[in-house]
Amino acid sequence: MQTKNIRHLSREEISAELTSLGEPAFRAKQIWQWLWEKNASGFEEMSNLPKGLRDKLAENFSIFKITIQSKQVSSDGTIKLGFTLYDGEIVEGVLIPADDRMTACISSQVGCSLSCSFCATASLPRKRNLYFDEIYDQVAIINKIALEHYSKKLSNIVFMGMGEPLLNYSNVIKGIERITADDGLGMAPKRITVSTAGIAKMIHKLADDDVKFNLALSLHAATDEKRDKIMAINETNNLAALKEALIYFHDKTGTRITLEYVMLSGYNDMKEDVVELVKFCRNVPSKVNLIEYNPIENGLFKKSSGNALHRFKDYLEDNHIIANIRRSRGEDIDAACGQLANKELAKAELADSLAQSK
Ligand code: SF4
Repeated sequence: MQTKNIRHLSREEISAELTSLGEPAFRAKQIWQWLWEKNASGFEEMSNLPKGLRDKLAENFSIFKITIQSKQVSSDGTIKLGFTLYDGEIVEGVLIPADDRMTACISSQVGCSLSCSFCATASLPRKRNLYFDEIYDQVAIINKIALEHYSKKLSNIVFMGMGEPLLNYSNVIKGIERITADDGLGMAPKRITVSTAGIAKMIHKLADDDVKFNLALSLHAATDEKRDKIMAINETNNLAALKEALIYFHDKTGTRITLEYVMLSGYNDMKEDVVELVKFCRNVPSKVNLIEYNPIENGLFKKSSGNALHRFKDYLEDNHIIANIRRSRGEDIDAACGQLANKELAKAELADSLAQSK
């Protein structure tokens, strides 16, 4: 018999379940602490509950947890993890250590329904959304790895792994609620960044929901003509719509938006491109992260030269726009930005689609 995932229940629902099992409702608080603060993996760990209650819980509920399927450590210290989900699907997360911060990059979907032409995840069809507890578990596990390897806790979380977070809105919001709750991981919302390929309607929703975390837009080109070609989502969410949504978000939340701009040699790294980028930034309170491109297998693009990167940054700064260069990390283990795609999985998908087309 399939038992209920107890972590999908609210505290009130756990109280109600306890009452129907003939147990005192006040035990819900203890169970809740074990589930979210102490990260228990089994009911037997809940040492302050009577044995009879622990047995009843084990008969009626399960605690599903994601597990580590693979772990690779880059020569620069970046650690890429493959996570096995409840149903055997796999997503990836990355720990990026730096002197001043420990950042976890996590996934929100199995595969992705958007097909950005510079991204390895685009080769994996979207299979499903992650549940909020799967999102939470990635952070809890990466935090543990950060402590084990670097004796430091996670300081930052970015939703820049596999999938489009705003297409899994409720689980992302609920996951962040658990990650930031005092009776969860207790992380500060301002240390969390949700990065979107640009879904104007959902950016409006974030603003209306008055979220406290940061928002990043994967911009990558500042004209519709160029953006359409590398990000199909731009055909339905063009730059005018995104600009309007970002201004709305800033007006409501007071949060400055980060614009991510991956530098593609000969495509979006020329003078005319930075001129357009400055025009876009003039209307949107923002800062720009210039990201070094990491070539992917069979990819169309090459990384921009160091000179092109610096020329871009200087031009932005001359126009009073804050700009940072984000160097590639974990490139040797395919953990860098845009490279997340479980290779074995991608090969299996390809073999599958070839078989179907025969
Ligand atoms: S960049 Fe993000 S939204 Fe685009 S295909 Fe990759 S994972 Fe999906």
